[in-house]
Amino acid sequence: MNKKTVRDIEVKGKKVIVRCDFNVPMDKEGNITDDRRIVGALPTINYLIENGAKVILMSHLGRPKEGYDAKYSLKPVAQRLSQLLGKEVLLAEDKEVVGENAVKLAGDMKEGDVVLLENVRFITTETKNDMEFAKKLASLADIFVNDAFGTAHRAHSSTAGIASYIPSVAGFLIEKEISIMGKALENPERPFVAILGGAKVSDKIGVINNLLEKVDRLVIGGGMAYTFLKAQGIKIGNSLVEEDKVEYAKEMLDKANKKGVKIYLPVDHIVAKEFKADAAWEVSKTEIPEGFMGLDIGPESVKLFEEAVSDAKTVIWNGPMGVFEMPAFANGTKKVAEALSKVNGTTIIGGGDSAAAVEQLGYADKMTHISTGGGASLEFLEGLELPGIAALNNK
Ligand code: AMP
Repeated sequence: MNKKTVRDIEVKGKKVIVRCDFNVPMDKEGNITDDRRIVGALPTINYLIENGAKVILMSHLGRPKEGYDAKYSLKPVAQRLSQLLGKEVLLAEDKEVVGENAVKLAGDMKEGDVVLLENVRFITTETKNDMEFAKKLASLADIFVNDAFGTAHRAHSSTAGIASYIPSVAGFLIEKEISIMGKALENPERPFVAILGGAKVSDKIGVINNLLEKVDRLVIGGGMAYTFLKAQGIKIGNSLVEEDKVEYAKEMLDKANKKGVKIYLPVDHIVAKEFKADAAWEVSKTEIPEGFMGLDIGPESVKLFEEAVSDAKTVIWNGPMGVFEMPAFANGTKKVAEALSKVNGTTIIGGGDSAAAVEQLGYADKMTHISTGGGASLEFLEGLELPGIAALNNK
């Protein structure tokens, strides 16, 4: 990685402001129902504490629309963090985030102390990369550390703008994300296989185009597969299709052919007449009859996709193989997760639905890396520069 990390700078006695992703799910009473994002931030926070920094943390939580809203306060996160770190984390309770309390707490800090600012999205212009707000955040500290990969594809005051004012480096989470995904894209062990699924071709156009330059095999499942099948002249009944992307799908199939990339598309389908969890379903070979829609890949496709990854040395997976939220149509996604858990090589799950599926099925510890950012990892796989990473200092 060509960006500086916390290891490359002296942090002792310095005030270090860290952008974390504490956007954790909570129930109606404000209890955190899954603290993995907080746990994920601990290596960077502990490193800073152990090395004598004064640690100021910041994050967004949810989408407060009109400024301060107690419902979106980071108070529960401060409490959970205190438990996890075994030391008090003080919340700077300012409705304007950088207010009297934040300034006072930051001013009084000793080495190893930890302060958490309020939800940065209480400032509505945070997501517009408001430079005034960025400057206020920067004024609290000597060094900025970005460790929130999930928002690194957005130029916000707390992810990008702040880096204009103070030296800025990556935390361990971001370092891990870009070194593992970066190596896969730049210097993969082969065979290198990408598996793409999910609803829309249009969301993944850039990813498909970029990955065709890199992979040996591209597996396409989920709703997006039907646009490709249609491009091949295969009947797809009432399945999800993006008519205006059929031409693009043809171009991509041609590109794959020219590049020698083998494309795997479903050869059979679990079909139903209705998009409903309890719809009667059947297996349809090759073509889908009128009146039916494909909601999952069929058993032969599962076998084919398993073969595609069986000898792979690098696999990247993004997007479910079917409507996995409905148990009747979750088999393809489950089987792909299982196949990946057996791969003898690097396996990277690109966040979002596929990460959720892998975690639910208990395969998380079998994967090399599960990205903490769905949108960010897609943009990374697209070959785009992420503003929250581009803004950090080079080595
Ligand atoms: P994405 O956000 O693009 O990764 O798409 C995820 C969504 O795609 C999930 O909610 C799935 O239910 C949906 N999906 C996957 N396969 C199909 C399909 N065959 N038909 C309709 N929706 C699908």
